[in-house]
Amino acid sequence: MSHRILLTSLSFGVATALLATPAAFAQQPAQAPVITTTKVPNTDNVYVFRYQFHQSMFVVTPDGVIATDPIGENRPAAEAYIAEIRKITQAPIRYVVYSHHHADHIAGGKPFKDLGATFVAHNKAKERLTQAPRADIVPVDQGVDGTTKLSLGGTDVELHFVGRNHSDNSLVLRLPKEKVIFAVDFIPVQTVNFAAMPDSYLPDWDESLRRVIAMEWDTLIPGHPGPGGRLGTRQDVQNHLVYMQELSAEVKTAADSGKCPDAAKAEIKMPKYATWQQYGQYLAGNIERYCTFHTKGQ
Ligand SMILES: [Zn+2]
Repeated sequence: MSHRILLTSLSFGVATALLATPAAFAQQPAQAPVITTTKVPNTDNVYVFRYQFHQSMFVVTPDGVIATDPIGENRPAAEAYIAEIRKITQAPIRYVVYSHHHADHIAGGKPFKDLGATFVAHNKAKERLTQAPRADIVPVDQGVDGTTKLSLGGTDVELHFVGRNHSDNSLVLRLPKEKVIFAVDFIPVQTVNFAAMPDSYLPDWDESLRRVIAMEWDTLIPGHPGPGGRLGTRQDVQNHLVYMQELSAEVKTAADSGKCPDAAKAEIKMPKYATWQQYGQYLAGNIERYCTFHTKGQ
């Protein structure tokens, strides 16, 4: 039902856009963004903030809040994020931890900085953001090497670096007592990888998935919602590793036959994954990325 409503309003929007002058279009009320905050099952104080199709984790303690990605690139997500936190606690927001350096997840953090939060990220992310600063990205105050633990109000949050994958600076946040992890973009839940996997490191990515599987945890908060908005499980990480291995093997066969990239992109189907999110949209991009890997070795 909700899909039907969405499709209807989208087609209405397109028709309106075609007919309307820019000024008239600008007066159309913007479609309300999807903003939800949900407590992670089996925890007392771990939450998922979702703004459209981006997600962040935040942790509430008596001594303050540990927040993550502001997800506010070209949109007021950070203000909404803070408003959601304030429905739960008035405790100070002590930290904002960046999952990795990509702007769609970390831009827009100024409202958190204005409240005095300390911004934390992997040293490599700090270095990248120092070399290529952006006005809409709050600089990193505290760089970490991936073995740091934040302790606040009786809750521990470990910051792990598990190797290069979808970036060279992705952190996995793990709450040992709550058995929750937060990992962004390198473990899509029942979803193929984004596009042609920009900024990806192969074969390191597989190893980082193995390291996550070897950690102790029960619930994965992904940076984008899984099917039906669900969170992830250990089985999802295993499935993603198998997906990448099976796709790599298929593309290697094609590469060895000189089919990369165009014929490989046209011919390879992975029917086992046809029900995964973004399969139709991005499988060809994923194939292209593995063609580069198997023909150029990186
Ligand atoms: Zn990313």
